[in-house]
Amino acid sequence: MDQNLFGTLEDIARGLGFADFGAARIQPLGEPARRLDSYLEEGRNAGMEYMGRNVDKRKDPSLLLEAAGSVLCFVVPYGKARSGTPVASFALGLDYHKVVKDRLYMFLEQARQPLETAAGTALKARVFVDSAPVMDRAWAVECGLGFFGCNNFFISTVAGIRCLIGIILCNVDFKLLDCLTLQEKRAGVPADCGMCGNCVRHCPTGALKAPYTLDAERCISYHTVENKALFDPANRPVDYAGYIFGCEECMRACPWDKPDGAVWPELVCNRDYIESLTVEDWKEMSQQEWEKRFAGTSLTRAGLQKIKNNC
Ligand code: SF4
Ligand code: SF4
Repeated sequence: MDQNLFGTLEDIARGLGFADFGAARIQPLGEPARRLDSYLEEGRNAGMEYMGRNVDKRKDPSLLLEAAGSVLCFVVPYGKARSGTPVASFALGLDYHKVVKDRLYMFLEQARQPLETAAGTALKARVFVDSAPVMDRAWAVECGLGFFGCNNFFISTVAGIRCLIGIILCNVDFKLLDCLTLQEKRAGVPADCGMCGNCVRHCPTGALKAPYTLDAERCISYHTVENKALFDPANRPVDYAGYIFGCEECMRACPWDKPDGAVWPELVCNRDYIESLTVEDWKEMSQQEWEKRFAGTSLTRAGLQKIKNNC
């Protein structure tokens, strides 16, 4: 990618409120693909069978878009709930999948002309936010935007550990490895998180057995958000440690957990209300109140019945 094009795209991304932007040519993902294989072979995905589907597409995103040439990657910081809040901070506002996707479509509108000029043809693009078989964290690293933490989170050099990743696959074949901007971005990225071990020590359930490994069957986030089964007191897989939707212990223990930066208002619009609720309030919440407050938010992934059950 010539530097002017990169700069143009970066300016558009920053103008739309993205904290960081990068791009990389599509190529085989080495270590992240091997980690995915071990994760699946060892059955650490618990009931998330979807992780074992479309593995070929996860490893090779060119299978997701005809003539795909490059991955564009965007970083979005999110807020930090007050300590002791039983709901994970990514759920303090509207559903981030939709919020981030909407801005990525705005990016495509504004970047269409320079991208088509670079592609020499009509633009083909697909937008992904944590919802399709794309290894978004690995691509964020590949794009020079940050690195992996031992707790498996992507850590942005700009926004820290508390960030979302947006991805656009497109048919522009950038010569990014020759791009000075990308080399500069990569040069500023630490090789690893520092390996302090806090995340492993602070995980209340032992789900993080060792750096870069996660046993979802022991993870509170998995059980309170993803696991469709309701909590069975006779067969307690793990103690939920006070959480009713998600868990942030391995994030809060991390030195890369920065204070709130410039967070999009729609990602924290329910913060005051959520922080004001006690567990009793959640247990007694009416369906009407739930719908009024939480329609269109990430909390609907679990639903009111499961959240009450988690309580
Ligand atoms: S989210 Fe909670 S349970 Fe899961 S690995 Fe992190 S600290 Fe452990
Ligand atoms: S808590 Fe320490 S070991 Fe864990 S991701 Fe953060 S820096 Fe790395």
